[in-house]
Amino acid sequence: MALIVQKYGGTSVGSPDRIKNVARRVAKFKAQGHDLVVVVSAMSGETNRLIALAKEIQSQPDPRELDVIVSTGEQVTIGLLAMALKEQGVDAVSYTGGQVKILTDSAHTKARIQHIDDANMRADLNAGKVVIVAGFQGVDAQGNITTLGRGGSDTSGVALAAALKADECQIYTDVDGVYTTDPRVVPEARKLKTITFEEMLELASLGSKILQIRSVEFAGKYNVKLRVLSSFQEEGEGTLITFEEDSTVEKPVISGIAFNRDEARINVIGVPDKPGIAYQILGPVADANIDVDMIIQNVGQDGTTDFSFTVPKGEYPRALKVLEEVKKHVGAREVSGDDKICKVSIVGVGMRSHVGVASTMFRTLAEEGINIQMISTSEIKISVVLDEKYLELAVRVLHKAFGLEQAA
Ligand code: ASP
Ligand code: MG
Repeated sequence: MALIVQKYGGTSVGSPDRIKNVARRVAKFKAQGHDLVVVVSAMSGETNRLIALAKEIQSQPDPRELDVIVSTGEQVTIGLLAMALKEQGVDAVSYTGGQVKILTDSAHTKARIQHIDDANMRADLNAGKVVIVAGFQGVDAQGNITTLGRGGSDTSGVALAAALKADECQIYTDVDGVYTTDPRVVPEARKLKTITFEEMLELASLGSKILQIRSVEFAGKYNVKLRVLSSFQEEGEGTLITFEEDSTVEKPVISGIAFNRDEARINVIGVPDKPGIAYQILGPVADANIDVDMIIQNVGQDGTTDFSFTVPKGEYPRALKVLEEVKKHVGAREVSGDDKICKVSIVGVGMRSHVGVASTMFRTLAEEGINIQMISTSEIKISVVLDEKYLELAVRVLHKAFGLEQAA
């Protein structure tokens, strides 16, 4: 008998029938003698609908009031799931974040969890009830409703598992695990039995949308045993997220390929090569609250140097505007850029102990005549920026070059 936290995403609870299905699965685990805490998202599309509704009243919604509105999505789901369980003869009780007391800071729409009171949940579990908790939401010290950022129910699930010292946190979603890459791009993509936290973190931050990044950080920090599974399949082990030390099998060099089309490249050319210049260029961008990624500065020549970096595609026009001002200020020759780019990244802890990974990647792309615009590396990943039109081709040839379609 174990204490299991299960989290069901929006598509898994997207209709009354699907909620009944979730209830059946929960009831099955309960019948096996497990204690269950179930965290749910809003029904699919609901959070978007609520945000759009808010924007019809106020184009820049007041953050406190927006949280009051969007948190209702999850409140509906917990009630429906509790009723579905009761209909199946299983005693269940629903909780909003505030009722549990999931205490967060006051950063509306992107709050961080500070503490979870487990007393009420424990009492209900001891009384044999299934506890159902609204994901994505909490309450600050003043009692204001807060939310944790889009996709935040994953973090709710992991945080509850950590607070309750659950034996396992199961994230049920519309895919049956973590794949070597998106099967819609590469049909030969293979489901991974395990992946390390570090790799999962890289994949999440590089564009794989399976888990909210913060939830993976949280699970790593608090040692939560985390598993991703499909809510549409009866059986299946999903993908277990492991600590590298746990794994006895030798890891493949590359575990997965992530990609995204969400960034744009900016070049600041011919800037005076002197101390403080990176700060003068990137400081105003940061002040404008624009996230910067993949920063590259060339070796200076003739007293000037070039700077390139990427920003979220949606911020591209605003970033260009900020940099036009910067250009005058620092005396740069030119500001240019391109928003028709993509980023493709190979990720694997095996890179640490293998040489030649980068050259395999670059050779593979060269053989297809794909030009690399930017490169950045970390200990366990290599990312390249390419023309957007090469995205599918690049992912496909790299998947093959690293033998990812073969079972590990
Ligand atoms: N319903 C929220 C969202 O759509 C939270 C979640 O689904 O995790 O972002
Ligand atoms: Mg999600």
